Amino acid sequence: MTMPKPIRIVGGGLAGLTLGIALRRLEIPVTIDEAGNYPRHRVCGEFISGRGQESIARLGLREMFDETGVIRAHTAAFFSTAHSTPPRPLPSPALCLPRFKLDAALAGKFRELGGELNEGRRAAVEDFTEGVIRASGRRAQTKEHGTHWFGLKLHARKVALTADLEMHFSPQGYVGLCRLADGEVNVCGLFRRQAGENLPANSRELLRGLPGSPLRERLASAEFDETSFCAVAGLSLRPQRAVERPEICVGDAITMIPPVTGNGMSMAFESAELAVAPLAAWSRGEISWAAARQQIAQTCDEQFSRRLRWAHWLQRLVLTPALQNPLTFLAARSDGFWRMAFERTR
Ligand SMILES: Cc1cc2nc3c(=O)[nH]c(=O)nc-3n(C[C@H](O)[C@H](O)[C@H](O)COP(=O)(O)OP(=O)(O)OC[C@H]3O[C@@H](n4cnc5c(N)ncnc54)[C@H](O)[C@@H]3O)c2cc1C
Repeated sequence: MTMPKPIRIVGGGLAGLTLGIALRRLEIPVTIDEAGNYPRHRVCGEFISGRGQESIARLGLREMFDETGVIRAHTAAFFSTAHSTPPRPLPSPALCLPRFKLDAALAGKFRELGGELNEGRRAAVEDFTEGVIRASGRRAQTKEHGTHWFGLKLHARKVALTADLEMHFSPQGYVGLCRLADGEVNVCGLFRRQAGENLPANSRELLRGLPGSPLRERLASAEFDETSFCAVAGLSLRPQRAVERPEICVGDAITMIPPVTGNGMSMAFESAELAVAPLAAWSRGEISWAAARQQIAQTCDEQFSRRLRWAHWLQRLVLTPALQNPLTFLAARSDGFWRMAFERTR
């Protein structure tokens, strides 16, 4: 029997580590190069919802999630500067887990299965030859239609939430408050800055909300874990197609779904799962690299294109300041609007 060909993955985030774990379970030699180190905080709402939960179960990772302290979110509430909704039941529960724990747990599982994980190793662009997968996350985009998008996140305690997930919209962007285990709450926001406008001197103040807002009130007595603060800039919210990529990509390296949907992590798990069979076939010499690339890209595009389109429009609507109050007013009165938005974006 011929030896399986080795696979190298660039990027040890959710998509890269999940793919690495699944390939190691098939005894394929896998190396992951990760520019950073574990554990580390990441800008993320830490709210996993949608079909990625089924991928997690099929890939045998449920138990690892439970052991790492995952909790389930059952309700969500929405706030604009003038209106709020009562807590609404989520159409299906979401998983909430800090990235600080999740990425490190996946890295541990990959190593336990015999994978080689090189921390602190950054790959170069020319490294994407046959046998190398791009799982290096979003491609930085400095501005989109004159707007720079950036994300901030901080963990806090002593925050009395009305729902497991609270979404607070303001003219600057939005902040999501997500309940985590042991009394912790993730405070994560996406904000805009126009070209030429400077970042506020203390940008993390944006996470506390405008004076007089429900968010400011909610966080009035919060104790922040300053070590958890992180920021990310250069976010692109425009959907991209996998077939247009020259390399085999998984996760945000294909495209980034607008964060307001809380579906990016799900797409990372789903795309990793979709890539396993074609990559295993390439590793065993049954198909060419080009055929594996085409299969993976086509399946990802089929699976994600509809939700990406809906997410693009939803994000535009909820981040248009003039629409935030009417939309929250509508969501407070009609369950249908918010259920439809939830279901179409995952
Ligand atoms: C503000 C905000 C809020 C969000 N909220 C949510 C949410 O609530 N729910 C949700 O599901 N999703 C959310 N997301 C999206 C989610 O964080 C991403 O979709 C997810 O992290 C994608 O996983 P990934 O593995 O593709 O990329 P990443 O997790 O970004 O991992 C990529 C890895 O590649 C490494 N890397 C990059 N370049 C190189 C290189 N050249 N060599 C080696 N390593 C490299 C990086 O260090 C990183 O570890 C949010 C995103 C933002 C910005």
